[in-house]
Amino acid sequence: MMATLFSLAEEIRKCTACPLWKGTTLAVPGDGPKDVKIMLVGEAPGEEEDRQGLPFVGKSGKLLNQMLEIASLDRKKVFITNTVKHRPPKNRAPKSSEIKTCKELWLDKQIEILKPRLIMVLGGVALKTLTNEISVEKLHGEVIEKNGQKFFVSFHPSAALRFPETRKKMEEDFRKLKALKI
Ligand code: URA
Repeated sequence: MMATLFSLAEEIRKCTACPLWKGTTLAVPGDGPKDVKIMLVGEAPGEEEDRQGLPFVGKSGKLLNQMLEIASLDRKKVFITNTVKHRPPKNRAPKSSEIKTCKELWLDKQIEILKPRLIMVLGGVALKTLTNEISVEKLHGEVIEKNGQKFFVSFHPSAALRFPETRKKMEEDFRKLKALKI
């Protein structure tokens, strides 16, 4: 029988397939309903996400909420997750082995269940993980298609928090997202 989002989340919470689970409080499987058109993929849970077990609920999440508003997207009507489901120690970047394990076990299955019309990739780690492309700077604001799946590329919210120029570009991307017929 095919897994459900719910049964996957239950398994993700128990996952010890890579070392990232050690020292975490809660896994962050993802959040949102099954019948979504848009899925958003960030990098990895941070401190607040680890505490609550929910994606993008800290400072980056606040900025993401503002971006979703620009695109007139209701956060309750999209599915939000990350390339890895456990917080890396001290927020270090997830290793490629951790990403590979987590993608094959969980992210690929979430995508298969949701069948989103568009996957919004937030930042370089999600971009590389899902499309094998490297440059957010080059591709942001564009829809790219890989293996029959459409992706819309933008920056990671934490980069937009650090650099005002990046924030402006990200706002522009979300205005473009609003204009897309999805
Ligand atoms: N940054 C991410 O990439 N994901 C989160 O869930 C929170 C911060």
